Amino acid sequence: MQYVSLKAKAACWVRGAIGTGRRYEKEAMGAVILAYHGVVEDIQYPQLERYCVPRDVFRRHIRYLQRKHAVVPLAEILDAVRTHTAIDRRWVAITMDDGLHNQATIAAEILDEFSLPWAIAVPTRLIGGDRSIPTYELDYLLQFWTESSLSLPDGSAVAWHLLGAHQRQAVRAAIKRQLLTSVTSVMREAYLESLKATFGSERFRESFSRYGVFQLADWQQLRDLRRAGVELLAHGATHRPLNDTLTLSELLVEIDAPRRHFQEFMGFEPSGFILPHGIADARANEKIGEAGYLYCLTSRVGRVSAGADPFGLPRVDGEYTLEILRQHMARA
Ligand SMILES: [Zn+2]
Repeated sequence: MQYVSLKAKAACWVRGAIGTGRRYEKEAMGAVILAYHGVVEDIQYPQLERYCVPRDVFRRHIRYLQRKHAVVPLAEILDAVRTHTAIDRRWVAITMDDGLHNQATIAAEILDEFSLPWAIAVPTRLIGGDRSIPTYELDYLLQFWTESSLSLPDGSAVAWHLLGAHQRQAVRAAIKRQLLTSVTSVMREAYLESLKATFGSERFRESFSRYGVFQLADWQQLRDLRRAGVELLAHGATHRPLNDTLTLSELLVEIDAPRRHFQEFMGFEPSGFILPHGIADARANEKIGEAGYLYCLTSRVGRVSAGADPFGLPRVDGEYTLEILRQHMARA
């Protein structure tokens, strides 16, 4: 009896597993806001470019979304959230974080080909300078680190040349965690500058720029995108994590300055904010609401339903193959 019962359960489980993806896709309620980062010609360094999708994969996503979903402007989802109107489960909005040059070129070209709306979130103070997002610079430095020793933010050091790939990955993750959660922004910048100095400041500047994947768009590219109907959103001033590693005045700069920068360089104020690193504490949430933004997108995974909190909207990461993306969308 026991055997039959287990066999029946197993058969039931297999039937369920086979139909799982489709069933979820049909039953899931609420819209999906997709979050992308870089879109590159080809992946050259998988670890360094783990948040990027290659052009052909991105194109496959977009073709699928156009055929099987309804790609809508973010504003349409926000209107439905605010007015508590039912949200069509086929609705998808496309967002790109970080204001990268390859988003303004490769991604823009593909989205334009399919005539789909999208939004790009920009760390405004970094635009027009020679910096990129600090964690991208950190990733690059560690990818090509050739010194035998590597200092950590807490002042200790590891024998980098003795570490295997997995150990290096663990150290990279630990450094990032420390930098984003337990040092002040002054210490964070000083740490990064010290790594650049050891790496060779000129060598870093020249090779990082030649590599190009993390190069940011310029104001003219952003103006052209806006003219083409792309929505521009704030993504902090310098992409700092909005937590207690910032003083109140630093926090206010990250939240308020993007509105001033967009006004100064583009003549408008953005309506939405996307959290850098998906990080915000209670103080940041309050200040984003007070700053004049109408909504805030997070990195929390989920669908957006009618009546959702406009200042805590979930998204779904897009950096996967089409099959995995479909599973993530279905399960969100
Ligand atoms: Zn970002």
